[in-house]
Order: sequence, then C-alpha cells, then structure tokens
Amino acid sequence: MLTVTTLASGSSGNAALVSCGDTHILLDAGVSARRITTGLRALGVPPEKLTAILVTHEHHDHINGLAVLTKKVRVPIVSSGPTCRQICYKVPFVDELVRQQEPGTGVWLGELWVESFATPHDAASSVGYSIAGDGRRMVLCTDLGYVTPEVKAAVRGCDLLICEANHDEDWVRSGPYPYQLKQRILGDRGHLSNEAGAELAALGVESGARTVVLAHLSAENNTPARARQVVSRRLAAMGCDPERDISLTVAPRSELGPTYRLERERAAGAVVQKEAALC
Ligand SMILES: [Zn+2]
Ligand SMILES: [Zn+2]
Repeated sequence: MLTVTTLASGSSGNAALVSCGDTHILLDAGVSARRITTGLRALGVPPEKLTAILVTHEHHDHINGLAVLTKKVRVPIVSSGPTCRQICYKVPFVDELVRQQEPGTGVWLGELWVESFATPHDAASSVGYSIAGDGRRMVLCTDLGYVTPEVKAAVRGCDLLICEANHDEDWVRSGPYPYQLKQRILGDRGHLSNEAGAELAALGVESGARTVVLAHLSAENNTPARARQVVSRRLAAMGCDPERDISLTVAPRSELGPTYRLERERAAGAVVQKEAALC
C-alpha cells in the first residue's frame, strides 16, 4: 500500500511523508525538526526509520528543519545537482549525505520508484516528484510559475496529486504587497494561482487521479475555501462532482493532514471474493 500524508503545507513550511512497506520518504523538510519528528512519530514512523529525504528546492520553507534533523538522522538527501550544492552551502555537515538526481530520471529508494521533473521557479534547479509503489503513483507539484510539458507528462495518469493552489490572482493584484513581490508571485518562476492549479487538477482527474490535495496556499492571498471553490468549479465544468466522484481536500497549513491510502487494484475476482466474505 502506498500512503501519503502532509505534515505541513504553505509558505511557512512544507513537509510530507510517502510510505510503502518499510520504505519511508520525507518530501521536503521545511518546518522545524521538532515538528517533523513529532509528525512522523504520530504516524508511527520514528525519524531514524526514514529511508531518504527528497528536497524540491533550497527555499527556506522547504529545508528549514534539515540542519537539526540531519544531526541525528543521517539518511540520504536527494535533489538535483544545483539544489544539492545550495543545500551543502546552507546546511552544515550534510556533504556526505547529498545524492544528486538529474531531473527527468528515476531511482529506486527501497520499495519506491522516484522520478523527478524540472519545475519553473526562482530557485537553483527546482523539481517536483512522481513516486510509485505497490502499483500506485503520487505526484507532488508545488512551487512552480506555470505548467510545463514535463509537468503535464508527470501528472498524467497519477492516482494522487498534491497540486499547488497558491493564490487568488485578483487578491494579489489588489493586495498590499510591493510591486516587485507581486510580479515575483505572478511571474513565470513564481507560484501557481488557484486558476492554474485548477487546470492542473483537471488534467490529473481527467487522466485518472481520484485524490487531489491542494497545497502551498498563501496565508495572505488565499483561503482554503477560496482555493477549493475555484478548483471545484473547474472540475464540475468537466462533469466531475468533487463531493462524490473524487476526494478533493486542502492540505492543512501547520498540522498533520489525513493519511491517504492507495491500494493496488485487485483483480475483479478478488474483489468479489472479499465482498462475499463480508456478507
Ligand atoms: Zn519556493
Ligand atoms: Zn515553497
């Protein structure tokens, strides 16, 4: 079974756990090591049982907990080459832990097959991740200014999509941020708006995803209700009822989200047998 849980999500810190059997991968370490440790323990995973830490990019809200966490938990830190160099520059004593993974390539980490794909963002070389285990696949896609063909290719056919819905464009434009910051958020190397996130969610759902988790919401320029409303409308326009046909949720900003369990599809016969056994 492939399981996915967000530990924190948003501009103040990001982390998620993806597990399959005894393999446990931390996706970003952007909140304090204490919060990561508490979250992992609550999920029944002592931090020393982590298989690896994958890092999307070197921004503070994705590596904040790395320095303290890696004092005790000496596991591989995997990211693109330029991001690995940034991590070594910003985080002490991790040179021997970093492993480079070229965007567009895949690697086995325990029972999980991990592919990374390049994302357009104002970082050295940011990536998203596609992680498959037990016949199921999840995609993490946050911190990107727009959706590229590589991103679309990764999202197509996944079972669970963690999709950025960072801001409401009108709220950013009419809000109090300085002009330069507004341009950064709205630019090609910034973040996906609710509308752009909705398009990506629609692509995921159209190609088979049954679980969509909206993530990395701005605290100032968005609300969970607003993000959900924009994405729900887009999905409804393609005939998908987000209340009935799929699971559409928003990752909580600073507490554990629910654990999504993706089981291998059984052969029709096996399902019938199980149902019969329940009668
Ligand atoms: Zn970022
Ligand atoms: Zn971020």
